[in-house]
Amino acid sequence: MIVDCHGHYTTAPAPHDAFRQAQIAALKDPSAAPKELPRIGDDQIRESLEGAQLKLQKTRGTDVTIFSPRASAMAHHVGSEETSKVWSRLCNDLIARVCGLYPENFVGVCQLPQSPGVPPSHSAAELERCVTELGFIGCNLNPDPSGGYWTSPPLTDRHWYPLYEKMVELDVPAMVHVSSSCNPNFHATGAHYINADTTAFMQFIEGDLFKDFPTLRFIIPHGGGAVPYHWGRYRGLADMLKRPPLSEHVMKNVFFDTCVYHKPGIELLLKVIPVENILFGSEMVGAVRGIDPETGHYFDDTKRYFDALELSAATRAQIFEGNARRVYPRIGAHLDRIEESA
Ligand SMILES: [Zn+2]
Repeated sequence: MIVDCHGHYTTAPAPHDAFRQAQIAALKDPSAAPKELPRIGDDQIRESLEGAQLKLQKTRGTDVTIFSPRASAMAHHVGSEETSKVWSRLCNDLIARVCGLYPENFVGVCQLPQSPGVPPSHSAAELERCVTELGFIGCNLNPDPSGGYWTSPPLTDRHWYPLYEKMVELDVPAMVHVSSSCNPNFHATGAHYINADTTAFMQFIEGDLFKDFPTLRFIIPHGGGAVPYHWGRYRGLADMLKRPPLSEHVMKNVFFDTCVYHKPGIELLLKVIPVENILFGSEMVGAVRGIDPETGHYFDDTKRYFDALELSAATRAQIFEGNARRVYPRIGAHLDRIEESA
């Protein structure tokens, strides 16, 4: 079984985005507010996936995608807490419909109704609804709801604790995932995403979060940002700052995906980061959609890079399935059901 831990619904039917446009327009002109929730038929959902995520799963040979709303469209900085609540709920309900239509291909992860300056505790109810009522197995947590201006305290601050308490209670992890950038210094997927991944890792080194929450788990996407390449720097900083070695501190609770879009990057990741901390992911259809002219293959076909490596069957199984079962315990029931029906 090959679990792709990182996929977004970037191809959602047009009425979904039209609702969002109207919602944003209404912030300036209340008369533009959407009159009703978008009407989207099952066929529209099927059509949006058959030529994209489902086709790519088939051609690339992956089985199940851990699927969440389009990350760049979370845009927590837009509007008020209420804006974010309505939009998040709508996005999560749409993911639930995808998972209902294709229970063998997708398992849900939710967007949280975060908003700048609003306590993260206000996101706990939506997380609980998504896990207990919609069958979701995790959430995407935005460390910077301001969209590139970093106005929230670090992820290790008590500010975030009420949400972590809910995550621990539900036994679900969070992928640390920022959204679009409204700071022109930071290109969203090229700089803001990678900055956030790197920033979160350093915050975890500096803090004592995992002393307070020994079972809390985070996935840092995009291959861990700049961290694997600078592994010596982070080990050295942990030492200088009198923090425990990374193997005893952060790396019991933090995992990296494989959304690194070239083979040398995957090789470095595997060389530096322990196998038990790596989850297979592609982030398709996502940030980088094109074909690499040097190879003739999609940049985000990350499975190809693994296929080209000499790895033991045990290592493959761990990265493709075993670690996902450990980090997302609630995926177990889904995978068992799929295996039984196969
Ligand atoms: Zn993503």
